Order: sequence, then C-alpha cells, then structure tokens
Amino acid sequence: MSTVYLVGAGPGDPKLLTRRAYELITTAEIIVYDALVSPRIIELIPPTTRLYNVGKRYGAHSMKQPEINALLVELASEDVKKIVRLKGGDPFVFAHGGEEMQVLREAGIRYEIVPGITAGLAAPAYFDIPVTHRAVSRSFTCLTAHSESGELPDFDWTALAKLGGTLIFYMGVRQIASISQALIEAGCDASTPAALVSRGTTPQQTLLARTLGEFTDAEEDFTAYTPALFVIGEVIRLNEGSTSRPLTGKKIIVTRARHQASSLQEALEAEGAEALLLPTIELSTNQEVATEVSSCLRELYRYGWIFFTSPNAVEFFFAALREAGLDSRALAPCRIASLGPMTSASLLSRGIQPDFMPSAYHAKAFAAEFIQHSSKCEAKPILLPASALAHDDLPRLLEEAGYPCHRLPLYTNNPIHYEQEELRATLSSADYLTACSSSAVHHLVELLEAYQLTELLHELPIAVLGEQTAEAVRSYGIEPQLIAPQATITALVDSLIESLR
Ligand code: SAH
Repeated sequence: MSTVYLVGAGPGDPKLLTRRAYELITTAEIIVYDALVSPRIIELIPPTTRLYNVGKRYGAHSMKQPEINALLVELASEDVKKIVRLKGGDPFVFAHGGEEMQVLREAGIRYEIVPGITAGLAAPAYFDIPVTHRAVSRSFTCLTAHSESGELPDFDWTALAKLGGTLIFYMGVRQIASISQALIEAGCDASTPAALVSRGTTPQQTLLARTLGEFTDAEEDFTAYTPALFVIGEVIRLNEGSTSRPLTGKKIIVTRARHQASSLQEALEAEGAEALLLPTIELSTNQEVATEVSSCLRELYRYGWIFFTSPNAVEFFFAALREAGLDSRALAPCRIASLGPMTSASLLSRGIQPDFMPSAYHAKAFAAEFIQHSSKCEAKPILLPASALAHDDLPRLLEEAGYPCHRLPLYTNNPIHYEQEELRATLSSADYLTACSSSAVHHLVELLEAYQLTELLHELPIAVLGEQTAEAVRSYGIEPQLIAPQATITALVDSLIESLR
C-alpha cells in the first residue's frame, strides 16, 4: 500500500530541508511538486524518480487544485511505496496541504505530514530580521493578501493595526499599495518600517526596506519580485548594520571546472553571494596514454616519489588505479608529495598522508624545498601525474637539480563552448571573477579572445588563488585585484568579503 507524504521543501536554500524531507525526496518512487520548490532542491532528486510538475504560478495555474487532489489519489492506487507531494515552505501554510490531507483521508489512503520551514519566518531571518524581538514585537501574524476576487481580503484592519507586532503578508506583491493604505487608514503610522522580501534564502534574495507610507503608490509594480513577502513592523530596523551573509547581492563568477566548482560555489552561497558558474574547461581521461598509465601504475616500485600538484591529479590518478584493478596499496613503495592544502585534503580523503608539502604553493618553492628536504642519493625517479597541458616548470626545475622525473599525462582539458551574448551578459553583470588555476585563466582569455571580449576582463575585478594563477593573469597585462593569502577556498572567500565590504 502506498503512503503519500505531504512534505515541506522549505523556502529555497537546500540546506534548510529537514532530514526527513531529504530522506523522502531521495527515496520516493514518485514526486509531485510545485513551481515554488527551488530548482536546487529538484536537483537532489535521483534521476530515476518519476516527477510530476503541477507548477502553479501566480495568475497561471497549470493544474487546478481538484486535479492535483485526483492525481494524488490515482497515483496512490499504483504499486508504489512512497509518493511525495512536495511544496515550498511548509505544506500547511497557504499551500492547500490541509485540503490534500482531507482528500487522502477520505479515500482511505495512508499519509504523513512533514513540516517545512515557512518562508515568512526564514526569508526575513536571512536578512537578520527576527519576527519577534523583546520590547519591539510581541507577535507575528501571517496572512495571505490573495483572494479569489483579486480584491484585498476582508481583514479587521483596525485589529491588525492595533496588534503592534510583525505582519507578514504572503502572496501579496499585487496588493502592496492597498495593504499599506488600509493599514495607515486603520491607524498605523506611515513611518512604520515595511519591506518587500524577495526570493528569500536563495542567492537571488533581495530586501527592499522602506516605510509603510512609501509603499502606497498604486502605480508601482512589484510583480518582478515574486515570490516575495510584504513584511511590516519595527523589527525590520534590525537589518540595519547586518553583519551576516556579507556577500548578499554580489555576483561572483566561478571559472573552475564544473565537477570542482561546488566547494567554492557553496562557500560563496553560504555568505549570501550568487555564484555564476563559468567553467572554461572540462576534464577527461587522456585515452591516448591508457596503456602507458596502466603499466606505470603496476610498477610504482620503480619510483621514489609521487608528486601530486592538484586535486584533479589525485582524482584522475585514483580513477586510473581503479580502472587498472588496483587500489591505494599500490602506492606503498613510494613517498608522496603534495603541492598544497587542497591536494593534501584530496589525498587524505583517500587515506593517504602526504610525506611532504612545501610552505608556499608554487612550482619554485616546491622544487627548492623538496631538494632541501630530500637526499640526492635517492636514485629512483619522481612520478608526476598531471594534465597533458600542465606546466613544465616543476619537472624542469627538478631535472636541473639532478632529479629524474616521469610525467604521466593522465587527463586532458577540453574547452567548453559559449555563445557570445551569454559570455558578455555573465561578465558584465558580475562583481568579481575568481580563478583558481592558471589553466582556467588561459582558457578564459582564449574564449574571450575568440569573441573580442577581452576588454570585459579589464573592467572586472579578479580574485585568484595562488601566485601561479596571479602570474597567469599578469601575463595578459592585468593585475589581479586580490590574491588569497593562502591557497584555500576559505582564504579566497574571506578576502572577497574583505574586499567587497
Ligand atoms: N507554503 C509556503 C507558502 C506558499 S504561498 C510557505 O510555507 O512558505 C506562496 C507565497 O509564499 C509567495 O507568494 C510568497 O509570498 C511566499 N514565498 C514563498 N517562498 C518565498 C521566498 N523564498 N521568499 C519570499 N517569499 C516566499
């Protein structure tokens, strides 16, 4: 017998999903969802799940409520265990959850309610606005400004004005002027703080804070802000001097390859920024050397050291090991060097503690410190798994000092195609561009050159990770605005916050 779960997906930020919601959306056979559920949450659903988008947008209902009710009942008669009915925010707050529950109950279908975080509380909170605050607001009232007729709902406005707490209007972007007028007529001071909180808890969130009196212009159109809440009350003042999510409203370009972008993207988004993903290259296994790689991996005892110069090198190396039917034990005869903390973290996650890491994370320091660290009598060569396009600096410096090196070109970088307009739009809308490797810089410039768009790069502040990446930027006559003091994502994001403050 099927169970239908009425699940709240929260206000947008996937991190605000409850554990129960996450468990259900990743294990259900069928999911029926609304337009309000954020795309980032839909991405978490396994590709094998059967999806129904019954998306309802203000003014354009794509499926009527009775049809959705009927669909749920019909799906529950199928031979499936879990059906998730996924709604934005909380399923019982202005979301027809109660109605769907009654329909299921009447049809004798098993159901469970999974509450979610409602937008009315979460969206203000992401702007440091608490809905209650000692001595400022002793209540919060959630209301819907929507009515069948399109008129303002028939509230007791005098009672609302007298409450003196926080008022939170859902579905109200078309009614903002009439709500403001009604409250002022009912006795609210025109100087009462009021705010339009749009797309709360997503990277596109915005806050338009004014006074009630400044929202009374019926000509003003706020429909572009949907979904948005209209919030009224003294608590809005607490947003002034906000110190959390310091990158709110900032758009930051991430040029890392897609499979690597997530850690930087997440770190930026946690600070409120919108990460614009602009990967310039895609990495793929270098098929041309497949046999060489496989025989090399079987004979690792021939090498004294393996030098990993990037997390990519680690990833492709271990993928090649797996492919060859080997595992990390194959590395036992060798010592391991890592160029920086991210590469080390990548090694550690595979159970390997690097034996050597230089104090500065570039080829020169790597070679110089390694030569100091090791004894010349190590006759065995150094294995350097890397990209087919990797810099030759490191092997050259090592060879010059008498250390034989063997480069293993494990993977190749393939450029990604963009339309000219797409590139121009992304670059001109951004506040910063980040680059974490010299190859990302070179590929980006190549891409821009093809469309004669390199000028855009001179107008955009650039933040880089590491001296080597900085050098790559300088080679085009551009001085990076910011070089992260350490080659870590945290350091990069912290310096961006400092720089944009
Ligand atoms: N069940 C949902 C509300 C659905 S009604 C909940 O509990 O949050 C739809 C209204 O919710 C929208 O018109 C808007 O007023 C509000 N809303 C939903 N998500 C929002 C968000 N991320 N930011 C601001 N308002 C949001």
